Amino acid sequence: MEQTLVLIKPDGVQRGLIGNIISRFEQVGLKIVAMKMVHAEQEDVDQHYALTEEWMMAVFTKAKAKYDAEGKTFPYTDHKAYGGEIKRGLVDFLRSSPIVALVLEGEMAVSLVRKLVGATEPASSPAGTIRGDFSHDTYALSNEQSRPLRNLIHASGNVEEAKNEMAIWFTDVELHKYEHVNDRVQYDAKWFLPE
Ligand code: ADP
Repeated sequence: MEQTLVLIKPDGVQRGLIGNIISRFEQVGLKIVAMKMVHAEQEDVDQHYALTEEWMMAVFTKAKAKYDAEGKTFPYTDHKAYGGEIKRGLVDFLRSSPIVALVLEGEMAVSLVRKLVGATEPASSPAGTIRGDFSHDTYALSNEQSRPLRNLIHASGNVEEAKNEMAIWFTDVELHKYEHVNDRVQYDAKWFLPE
């Protein structure tokens, strides 16, 4: 069974969306195995958004693709400078107010949570996703204001990332092992059979 890390960012906390966001995960049948509110330390956020070549290129390429699709000129050419600027903004943003960290467990939890979260840019994230339903921020506006997208939430991108990120935000004793009704109703092959 997979586990994945979610952070409700300062905009989600400030806008009173903690309950709504967590409900989405409960409703789909995921099990919450860890949860806390934290005022993030600089080194935790630094580690969480590691400034790798791959990350800077991905951030640059995704934003440029959106500008291209809208027939607009992307005003940046250097992916390192662009990525570095986004990262600095993200670190400050994530430390600007408390955030909520949680670990969710379930079958294919990593991709399931990414599906529920939606696309990086809220305005182009489909209705029904967390980012699409609760925000409408755009690359254009966030770039114009030199700040990170206010997209409410972070979710791990793959299983390895999830493991690394869980270790940043939680210690082993904070990860709870307990029986949840969904362990039977969703996953126990014998659940509906008579004893
Ligand atoms: P995601 O959170 O969808 O996995 P990334 O890992 O690519 O997205 O980026 C991390 C975070 O950095 C995003 O959630 C968003 O808050 C911010 N961000 C990424 N790209 C941009 C951008 N081009 N402009 C402003 N903020 C960005």
